[in-house]
Amino acid sequence: TSNILDVSKLRKHFNMGKGQMLQAVNDVTFQIKKGETFGLVGESGCGKTTVGRTIMGLYDKTAGHVLYEGQNVHELDSRETFQFYRKMQMIFQDPYASLNPRSTVKEVIAEPMEVHSLFTNKQDQLDRVIQLLEEVGLNRDHANRYPHEFSGGQRQRIGIARALALDPDFIIADEPISALDVSVQAQVINLLERLQQAKGLTFLFIAHDLSMVKQFSDRIGVMYLGHMIELTSSDSLYDNPLHPYTQALLSAIPIPDPDIEDTRERVILEGELPSPINPPSGCVFRTRCPFAMAVCAAKEPEWREVEQDHYVACHLYNETHDQPAHPAITIQ
Ligand code: SF4
Repeated sequence: TSNILDVSKLRKHFNMGKGQMLQAVNDVTFQIKKGETFGLVGESGCGKTTVGRTIMGLYDKTAGHVLYEGQNVHELDSRETFQFYRKMQMIFQDPYASLNPRSTVKEVIAEPMEVHSLFTNKQDQLDRVIQLLEEVGLNRDHANRYPHEFSGGQRQRIGIARALALDPDFIIADEPISALDVSVQAQVINLLERLQQAKGLTFLFIAHDLSMVKQFSDRIGVMYLGHMIELTSSDSLYDNPLHPYTQALLSAIPIPDPDIEDTRERVILEGELPSPINPPSGCVFRTRCPFAMAVCAAKEPEWREVEQDHYVACHLYNETHDQPAHPAITIQ
């Protein structure tokens, strides 16, 4: 399958005034194939949301490029941008904040269709709204009600119906289930999976928690302090995490079955998350890394494919350093 999105050495720095730059995203590279779900994971402040917004063209980039179907999203004119938003849509964390409380559900979902003059006939438009409501597990009785009358999970369904209104190919879902109850999270994930299969959608799924993306993602990229530090298939990330930060994230996930004894060795993160205004030299993770070596302060680790389709940025996997090639730690 071919790549639908190509993000190359993407950098986004924000000028905070007084000569301070917030280095939100640094030289992040990844591709997304048509029809796949790419999970982008990291703690809050790691830059994942900025990556999503920069891909959408909501932020200009500082360096690098974002190509969608070969088109540079930061070089589109206003007509091309308008067309681009028919192909790429976003789902947000807080569905309530993203829905106008004074509009009925029908109006909320129809708005993008009106902006893009999809229908000349009101009845056709209403039929399409009802079809979308049904696709997300709601129905025509919900059309004339207001967002505040719905539960969090239902509001997220309304947000999803709105994102689907223009029949996009690509959806950026920015923490779409983080604000929901655990029982509702699985339902929304199932809905997204179903829609993906029915419509051949491609997803960039942004989350702070690896346990949320595992089931749904084909491949996962892990970010830390503005850098992509590891990228591989979902299975390989869980079975064979290479970067110490990924190992720490995974060892923090409890084993779901209470009858299975948790005998895993843990990588515990110490220290505070440094500020992206003044990140550590060399490897940005070194102030919290249990394996840090002298070279980690001196030199930024290269982004390397250390196994097939398994990329990592860490000096432990650089053949020329003087430590064993794999960290002396296993997570079963
Ligand atoms: Fe740890 Fe060094 Fe690897 Fe960074 S480069 S993750 S500090 S071992």
